[in-house]
Amino acid sequence: MAYSKEENIGCKWLVTRWDAPPQGNITLSWKGEKIQDMKPCPHPPSRVIIPGLINCHVHLDFPYLIWAPSFIPWIKKVIAFRKAKAKLSTFPQEELSIKKGTVAWGSIVPYPWDRGRIPYMGNSAVPFLEVLGDTKSPIPPSSYPISPHAPYSLSPQLLEKLGRERREELKAIHVAESPWEEAFVQGKPNPIEGEIFPLTGRNPFPHPQARSPVEYLDALGCLGPKTIAVHAIFVDTQDADILAHRQVSVVICPRSNLYLGKSIGPLPLFQEREIPIGLGTDGLGSCPNLSLWEEMRALACYAQGKRWTLSPQTILSMGTQEGARILKLEALTQLTPGKEASFLTVRMPPSLPPEDLAPFILFQGDLHLERVYIKGKRVL
Ligand SMILES: [Zn+2]
Repeated sequence: MAYSKEENIGCKWLVTRWDAPPQGNITLSWKGEKIQDMKPCPHPPSRVIIPGLINCHVHLDFPYLIWAPSFIPWIKKVIAFRKAKAKLSTFPQEELSIKKGTVAWGSIVPYPWDRGRIPYMGNSAVPFLEVLGDTKSPIPPSSYPISPHAPYSLSPQLLEKLGRERREELKAIHVAESPWEEAFVQGKPNPIEGEIFPLTGRNPFPHPQARSPVEYLDALGCLGPKTIAVHAIFVDTQDADILAHRQVSVVICPRSNLYLGKSIGPLPLFQEREIPIGLGTDGLGSCPNLSLWEEMRALACYAQGKRWTLSPQTILSMGTQEGARILKLEALTQLTPGKEASFLTVRMPPSLPPEDLAPFILFQGDLHLERVYIKGKRVL
């Protein structure tokens, strides 16, 4: 077994959870991948240690933003991009995102699945293998998390089969990303079947009708306690009740939701029902970069405009511990002895009052980011 020496770092404040007060004057020590100890630090530097960021939803196959005025023209350009088979690396953006404090992400892996495509993050990337089409499509073995793409891109028979066989397993589904999805499940004329299907060589398929995409997926048995509903923009109170009843988690991609859905979504409906909410950037095709800092700030500014009660601590929780809980990586953001040494250190003004710590981190943490550790290994 390789020898690894114990390392330590002192801080004025240590945040173990954003919904609890920070601990003052602490020296955090770790050995290898694990936190060893937390002891008093009599003369701490003006530094705060915080949990790493969790990007719950990303696609690593788009190298640049695909510009379009709305969802349907965007999908058309995505199909053209995929047909062109452009080989442009997204690696620089991924590496930058890791150096800016993302310690894990949930990544959609398109077919043919290549898990080796997911970059090193201390083995804390969760690859969701994408499933599309009908019951003749390849389905990953049950040991892998899956991503049945969306209500309109799998036949109801395949959705039902996955719902039946993978109900209790971790899976991510794009849900209610555009108003056209609602028209699709209601059986009304819609550009998904009228304009998108012909481009992919698919014919419209018969499917049961439902009031909403959430009700459609629920009727097919696809919603369970480890299901992640990604985007969830066009949902109402009845949908939120179903998501809560089925113990589904929601992942909001603030900038992508705004770009393609023209709204972040009805976040208070999820909060009122205590539905777990995580954050994602989505892929570079619908977001300018993979910065979760910018996602959190976009959400904060949008929430101010909407007059939602959404504290900096709540947003930081979504970007860290809630996201980790949703991806089943809880140990990653629990900064206590025996847990993983994955954390960020941020320089803070010496005079900063404790009550201003969370807004300082939320709005300027990346400007003052000092070090990033993933499983004890320094990456910045
Ligand atoms: Zn997506």
